[in-house]
Amino acid sequence: GSTLTDQETGESIRVCVRSRPMNEKEISIGDTSCITVVNPQALQMNFKGSAKSYRFHQVMGEDYTQGQMFSESGVHVLLDSALEGYSASVFAYGQTGSGKTYTMAGIEENLGRQDYRSDETDGIIPRGISYMWQSMANRQEQYYVKAAFMEIYNEQVRDLLNPASGVLHCRWNIKSGFFVEDLLIVDCTNIDDLIAVLHEGIRNRKTGSHELNKDSSRSHSIMLIYLISETKGEDGHSFKKFGKICFVDLAGSERLKETKSQGIMVKETGNINRSLFTLGKVISALGDKKNKSKSHIPYRDSKLTMLLMDSLGGTSKALMIACVSPASAYAEETASTLNYAGRAM
Ligand code: ADP
Ligand code: MG
Repeated sequence: GSTLTDQETGESIRVCVRSRPMNEKEISIGDTSCITVVNPQALQMNFKGSAKSYRFHQVMGEDYTQGQMFSESGVHVLLDSALEGYSASVFAYGQTGSGKTYTMAGIEENLGRQDYRSDETDGIIPRGISYMWQSMANRQEQYYVKAAFMEIYNEQVRDLLNPASGVLHCRWNIKSGFFVEDLLIVDCTNIDDLIAVLHEGIRNRKTGSHELNKDSSRSHSIMLIYLISETKGEDGHSFKKFGKICFVDLAGSERLKETKSQGIMVKETGNINRSLFTLGKVISALGDKKNKSKSHIPYRDSKLTMLLMDSLGGTSKALMIACVSPASAYAEETASTLNYAGRAM
C-alpha cells in the first residue's frame, strides 16, 4: 500500500529515517531510547536535556516490519522508474550497528547462503527483486536483466563477484559516462539468479574483509541491477531502454568524523572516507531547491559519487534511508545522522 503523494514521488531525493528496536544489550545496561516517533513524517530526539524535532518524508519506528519498510519507503516507485528506463539509487546511511544491512538485505549472518530466503527478515533488495520480476511479467516489453556487485574501500573499487580481479579502474566514455573497467556483469534469467548475486556479493564482502584485514564498516557495497527493455514499434522497428537501480549499503557514518578530523592530512593522502563525505555534499546540493545548476554538484570528488552520477539528480530518483540506533548512549551519533539526512531534504 502506497501512501505517497504525487509531490513526494516527484522529488528527486526522498529521505526516510528508520529507528531499529533497542537490543538486549542496550536494555540490559539500563539504556533508554532517545527517539520518539511523533507522526509518520516527524520524530523527536532527546539530547543533552532538550528535545529537538525533525521532519522527513517518512519516519519508520521500531515496530516497522521489513514488509512495511519496503512499501512505505517508496522503493517501488524507483523500481517502476528503472523499469521505464530511468536510473535510480537507494542508500542506507547510519552508524555501524544501526540496521543498514538489515534494512537493505536482511540478517547479515544468514546472508551468503545462496538459497536463504525469509519472508520475515528479507530486506529491501530481495523484496525489490521479487517486485521487479512480477512487474516485468505484467508488462508488454521484453526485459533483459543483468547484475553486478562491487565495493569501494579507501577509494579503491573491487568486484565482489570476482574478488580475484583486484583493484579495478574507473573509466569514462561518452556512451556510458563513468564505469568500472572489467567489472563482471552477469546475465540473470530468473529471480534466483539475482538473489544468488546478492548472496555471493555479501559473502565475498565478508571473506574479503577477513583476508585483507579490512574493516568492513569502512566499505560501501553496491549492488547494480540493469534492466534493458525492448519494445517493438508498429513499423516493426524495436527500441531499447536502459534502466538501472543501485542499492548502496554505505560505510558506517561514524567514519565521517575521522574524515573531518584528519583536516589537511585528508587532502594529501586521499580521504579515509572521501566517498561518504562527498555523497553528503552531493545530496545536499541536490536537496537545495535553489541550486538549479548541476555544475556545482561535486560528483567527481569521490569514486562513489562519480560512479553513481547518472543515478543521482537529473531525471533519476534517489532514496536515502537513514538508520539510527535509538539508545541514548548513541545520541550524538544519531543527531549527526539526522542532520546529514536532513540536508538531503
Ligand atoms: P549495520 O549494517 O548498520 O552495521 P546491521 O544491519 O548489521 O547494522 O544491524 C545490527 C544488528 O541489529 C543486527 O543483528 C541486525 O539483525 C539487528 N537489527 C537491525 N535493525 C533491526 C530491526 N529493525 N529489527 C530487528 N533487528 C534489527
Ligand atoms: Mg552492515
